[in-house]
Amino acid sequence: MYIDGKWLNSSSGETFESINPYNQEAFAIIPQASNSDIDLAIQSANHAFETNWSKTNGLKRANLLNKLADLIEENAENLAELETIDNGKVLRETKNQMYFAARNYRFFAGFADKLSGETLQLDNINIFDYTLREPVGVAVLISSWNSPIQTLTNKLAPALAAGNTVVIKPSENASVTTLELGRLIEKAGFPAGVVNIISGDGNVGDTLTKQANINKISFTGGSNTGRKIAQNASQNLIPCTLELGGKSPNIIFSDANLEGAVNGAIAGIFGASGQTCIAGSRLLVQQSIYEEVLEELVVKTNKIKLGNPLEQQTQMGPVANEKQFNNILSMIEKGKNEGIDIVTGGHKAYDDKLSGFFIRPTIIANVNNSMMIALEEIFGPVLSVIPFYDEEEAINIANHSRYGLASGVWTKDISRAHYLAKKIKSGTVWINTYRTTAVQAPFGGVKESGYGKERGLQAIYDYTQIKNVMIDLGNEARDPFSINV
Ligand code: NDP
Repeated sequence: MYIDGKWLNSSSGETFESINPYNQEAFAIIPQASNSDIDLAIQSANHAFETNWSKTNGLKRANLLNKLADLIEENAENLAELETIDNGKVLRETKNQMYFAARNYRFFAGFADKLSGETLQLDNINIFDYTLREPVGVAVLISSWNSPIQTLTNKLAPALAAGNTVVIKPSENASVTTLELGRLIEKAGFPAGVVNIISGDGNVGDTLTKQANINKISFTGGSNTGRKIAQNASQNLIPCTLELGGKSPNIIFSDANLEGAVNGAIAGIFGASGQTCIAGSRLLVQQSIYEEVLEELVVKTNKIKLGNPLEQQTQMGPVANEKQFNNILSMIEKGKNEGIDIVTGGHKAYDDKLSGFFIRPTIIANVNNSMMIALEEIFGPVLSVIPFYDEEEAINIANHSRYGLASGVWTKDISRAHYLAKKIKSGTVWINTYRTTAVQAPFGGVKESGYGKERGLQAIYDYTQIKNVMIDLGNEARDPFSINV
């Protein structure tokens, strides 16, 4: 673990293994942080904040973030391979994610020396008023196993750019690249204690988020864990950013470019083996094209190449860990009790060469939106295809969900596109695209998908607080028993 600029084992000596989901072999030994390690990391982040980072100017912070971006680019291949071995995500995606992470650090580096308050014009012209935009202090960042570096970067880049120090806890299911990033952070020359990385299981995350000397929590993971974290944050009355799950609707109208829409549907649910919070797991298809779309979808899905995620031609790797594998299969089994119509997949991959946690890409037809399979987040390669009649029905189905993270609309009708963009309750609406991302575009959900934004200008504001300063320039004695306006 990387604490106060030093590489340490757990003070308890406890460790756990990191398992490669492709061959189910342990390939790394990771320290399990003890409570005293957690204390040390928090102390170190507080000390670095008070004595160093909060006094470091924006230009220096920007230079370090840009240096880190350079190092990520130089090491992108290695980081991508490690991440693929750790969580089974295909190399063609993890490689892209490393370059995207570097871009993200550069984007926020650009803000580091441009965060300012403003001067305000008050009714009372004798008062000179200005605001200061200040860092919040120590931020605890808890990331997920599905995209460890990307989910961490969404938090770390704005936190550091705004002048905060951090304690990071990656998922026990995929900690290797985050620890490896620590080496690059050290090499870039960040002062000791600005970035602390501790590893361990969910209990470590729980203890960490209950600490008194922290000022902000940012979390990516499941909604149930998000609830626990929000409760922990409420004890100290500190703000949270919660990036949680989804059951995102991807809606195809009969006037859409069908080839693009079908590709978008596949990208939405089978990209990253469906293990993304933005997975377009509910495909809503207008009735008049329903059969045609379903047929095309099945043909393309059956051609998806499953295999070693390290090989460039592989399109879908295994799911990330045994718990996920069992969860997904058990949800499909539960769905069978509701009489679901599985048109392809619905089981693990039986191919002898695929001994890891492989699940065949699964399509379920004629789903009714009130079925469990359409309501619950499966976080795997399982698509529910739901027919709809017109715009209003599509909107009703789309919004009938506990979640509100992302959505897609496929249509050539520009009025319809804007109308749905307004009506759908989700943090992102993609029109004629899906699973497209940009460092400038704010990302984050509504409802049980969480709150707060990552990426874009809003993300850096979420790591700052505004202080108001009033200076009385007049010399008049005031009435002490009346508020001064
Ligand atoms: P979790 O929400 O449990 O894990 C996310 C992160 O939180 C991990 O770092 C985890 O550590 C940590 N954590 C676990 N428990 C606590 C706690 N009490 N306090 C603080 N931190 C904690 O996700 P799971 O891995 O269990 O996956 C469950 C479901 O969550 C998935 O099936 C999926 O639906 C959803 N999910 C959504 C993600 C997203 O991108 N929004 C990402 C991952 C999951 P550790 O892993 O070491 O236990």
